[in-house]
Amino acid sequence: MTTIPFLDLKAAYVEAKADVDAAIARVLDSGWYILGAEVDAFEAEYAAYCGAAHCVGLANGLDALHLALRALGVGAGDEVIVPSNTYIATWLAVSQCGATPVPVEPDARTYNLDPARIEAALTARTKAILPVHLYGQPADMDAIMALARRHGLVVLEDAAQAHGAACKGRRVGAHGDAVAWSFYPGKNLGAYGDAGAVTTNDPVIADRLRVLRNYGSRVKYVNEMQGWNSRLDPLQAAALRAKLAYLDAWNARRAALAAAYGEALAGADIVLPHVPAWAAPAWHLYVVRVADRERVQQRLAAHGIGTLIHYPIPPHRQAAYADCGYAPGSLPLAESMAGDVLSLPMGPHLDPAAIDTIARALRND
Ligand SMILES: *Cc1c(COP(=O)(O)O)cnc(C)c1O
Repeated sequence: MTTIPFLDLKAAYVEAKADVDAAIARVLDSGWYILGAEVDAFEAEYAAYCGAAHCVGLANGLDALHLALRALGVGAGDEVIVPSNTYIATWLAVSQCGATPVPVEPDARTYNLDPARIEAALTARTKAILPVHLYGQPADMDAIMALARRHGLVVLEDAAQAHGAACKGRRVGAHGDAVAWSFYPGKNLGAYGDAGAVTTNDPVIADRLRVLRNYGSRVKYVNEMQGWNSRLDPLQAAALRAKLAYLDAWNARRAALAAAYGEALAGADIVLPHVPAWAAPAWHLYVVRVADRERVQQRLAAHGIGTLIHYPIPPHRQAAYADCGYAPGSLPLAESMAGDVLSLPMGPHLDPAAIDTIARALRND
């Protein structure tokens, strides 16, 4: 039986091994293990890659979202517009500020925040909009920014799945007031452990984040506020610098695989991803929607094909948000997606020849 893993992280390491090993050795040899030159260099290089003026390295993607919201002035009593269909981190970041996540249902075809639905969810307490570039496909940032400016709101993008994605020819990284990144190992740009960052064009937000991530301190042992310890690790920064050189080539392989899936699955009774003409997705995930998902997933597993579900339970139906009192059916689009989405194998080290095998197993022929 062939084995087609959902994602082959080891193969990615093997391809970049010489560069990654040298980068890690450089940090070990330097004798400097918190912040410093390696983190500074990654920040400069990643900001340039994204077309942003600043990048601040943080410990993980959740902290990037949470601390960026604080740097943008979100706090107790505020409301933040979030997608109903996202990873729970998007909501948790809002809750960690003492603010309330206000879910808005997605566009039924792109699965991203629907600008037309945001307006109805705004109240006098709304402070920010937090679009997610879900599965690596950019949200409609022009429409979201126009709406935000009209209502005096700030915008934080959750770009944890969108390294290298572009919106109307411009890379994700500085459309909104701030952009939060995760470098969790399985992301398109992944570290060897937890890592995250925020990019922004605003020097004040970048400066606040540098203080927030380091105990509220700018000068050692002088604490101007009650901050956090959420610094990007230099070992991870060095590895990320090495891997950034591979990102565009690896994303191109993902795009070719997505195109091959589209061809191989055309005409099947499966809902394929819909990409607007202005969007260049990073193809973090290739998500289809199928009837009778459990049986399909088992059939693929029987062929040695790994699949995952992103995500099986939407945030509003999690025990973590039980006290918000969302009844079943209250956010029907998010709930119907949770019931039928299926993520097919996707990654720069997936053999293009596997697409045919996967498509045949999916079509059951
Ligand atoms: C991965 C992810 C996060 C969280 O990132 P961590 O680094 O795991 O904290 C947040 N939002 C989305 C959409 C993600 O996919």
